[in-house]
Amino acid sequence: MENKVLFVASECTPFVKTGGLADVVGALPKVMNDKEKTEVRVILPLYRDIIDNWKEQLEWITSIYVPVGWRNQEASIYQLTHNGVHYYFVGNDYYFARHGVYGYYDDGERFIFFCQAVIHALDVLDFKPDVLHAHDWQAGLAIAFANIIEPIKELKTVFTIHNIKYQGILFKDAFHELFNLPAEHIGGLEWNGLLNCMKAGIFHADKITTVSPTYAEEIKTPYYGEGLHPILIDRQEDLSGIINGVDLDEYNPMTDPNLFSNYKYSRIKKKENKQHMQETLGLPVDGDVPLYVIITRLVEQKGLHLLQAIIDEFLQDDVQFIVLGTGEEEFENFFSDAQQRHPDKLVAYIGFDEGLARKLYAAADFFVMPSLFEPCGLSQLIALQYKTIPIVRETGGLKDTVTPFNEHDGCGNGFSFTNYNAHELLHVLRYSVTIYHQADRWSSILKNVNKSHYSWDDSAHDYAKLYQSFDPSFHKAFY
Ligand code: ADP
Repeated sequence: MENKVLFVASECTPFVKTGGLADVVGALPKVMNDKEKTEVRVILPLYRDIIDNWKEQLEWITSIYVPVGWRNQEASIYQLTHNGVHYYFVGNDYYFARHGVYGYYDDGERFIFFCQAVIHALDVLDFKPDVLHAHDWQAGLAIAFANIIEPIKELKTVFTIHNIKYQGILFKDAFHELFNLPAEHIGGLEWNGLLNCMKAGIFHADKITTVSPTYAEEIKTPYYGEGLHPILIDRQEDLSGIINGVDLDEYNPMTDPNLFSNYKYSRIKKKENKQHMQETLGLPVDGDVPLYVIITRLVEQKGLHLLQAIIDEFLQDDVQFIVLGTGEEEFENFFSDAQQRHPDKLVAYIGFDEGLARKLYAAADFFVMPSLFEPCGLSQLIALQYKTIPIVRETGGLKDTVTPFNEHDGCGNGFSFTNYNAHELLHVLRYSVTIYHQADRWSSILKNVNKSHYSWDDSAHDYAKLYQSFDPSFHKAFY
């Protein structure tokens, strides 16, 4: 039996992206359609930027009226097919014809409208999904409405948590002002006296997933659960982690046009990229000095307080460090100041630059990612593709994708440390310098990196199995 699945999300490449959510929603449907017996379509809000960039391809299907409290708002449903995947868009000029994606005072109301529109659109679309799969808080209410309104009989629901920190919280008054549900349903939407869109998704979904098995465990604890751990413990039987993949064609050092020298396994060619970067960024050109790179949003989540505490000490060693990032002023200033103190050792490039990022993944020997928490993480997967050794804290997807190098049996594709402690990071950084200079061990770790591939095929297969688990015959086959 072929499953039909509708993804509900607030962002998706190539239409609109602010983070990793867009990559997942952008990559999975194609793989599911091509390789698994699952037809996935996607429904998104029609933001201003999508109208501007895709108007030639957008085809209007119909317009419907959607209740938002006492008002009826018009939702125009459009469609287009891109790269073999069918996309639907919910248009409403008042809510979505604005630039950018989030950050408006009425984001809560915008996504209440979006989720209501998705559920009402199910009546008029010629696509009747077996599974409604919603992503993150912006789509969480679609799960709640699907469960309460039952637009399609037997419709199953999956809710995926990409980052539990962002929950979509509204004052409780909004229940009467913006929802059209009987009062008995407030309990499923409420958390700690407020309405919480992520909690609504978790509460109402048949199955809940998150983007790595370790994060699935972590979010059941107070430290990582951002206050939602009790409900995740309640629902733990239905909660699982499926690791994200990386687009192996897109991130391929053999074909990446940004690189100074393309390579597959050649260390000599990789070194040419390093020397070119050193020259371009004004560092002493030396192919043998270990080069550490960090490419990130400069926010607390990424473990930057640990680096702040030890960077001066680490730069006493014969190493070089390049930071590419943009974000909070505290960190931007810190790294700019560190460059002043260590002009021959550290370069801080404050900004967002995709081309430079690719060059750095290729140039680096090590990629540093000491995150406080990391639901999955894409950067360490890209680093592995560019044969760059990740150095990570053992949390979330970092723990699931990077195995610490073991000098006794030669296993492991990176370096890692456990506690959120700056001197543990310093210790592992120094250990990595030691291994870098030991030819045998260095070549063992590189061999392991060459075998580390995290493709979307594996993730797609796991999602397909999850959808199949709703089919009663699947259970019979297994038990
Ligand atoms: P998150 O989604 O939490 O920001 P991920 O590791 O999942 O972290 O993905 C981050 C992506 O954004 C990676 O592809 C990384 O290379 C890219 N990136 C982050 N900061 C920059 C930057 N300043 N310039 C270019 N690319 C960046």
